[in-house]
Amino acid sequence: MRVALLFLALFLSAPPPMSAACTGVNISTGRAQSVRAIYRTRVNHAGHYIAEATHDRKSGRPLIIYYRRYNGLPATYRAFVRQHECCHHILQRQGRDSHDEIAANCCAWELEDASLRASSRP
Ligand SMILES: [Zn+2]
Repeated sequence: MRVALLFLALFLSAPPPMSAACTGVNISTGRAQSVRAIYRTRVNHAGHYIAEATHDRKSGRPLIIYYRRYNGLPATYRAFVRQHECCHHILQRQGRDSHDEIAANCCAWELEDASLRASSRP
């Protein structure tokens, strides 16, 4: 019983691992919605972006679009980019400045830290 309670306490106190779906805000409905990832990795972004957090113009669905430069990155950097772009959507969902790159970086590091802690549990 004691062990079960310990596991329950660890489970309830743990932040969700990064494998959990990224959720943003649909700008047409104002409701939370899962972020759709689009891989345009054969295309260079005009501004040489690696990826961008944006919304579908018609439906308002939150999107992350990955461009050609994303392909050439090491796996750890790609993971950070995914988290960073997700964090732009998280910031918006929280009513914060979604264009704040420093806040998106801090959020991404927090998600990475939470993910590492979750994956290192027995
Ligand atoms: Zn950014």
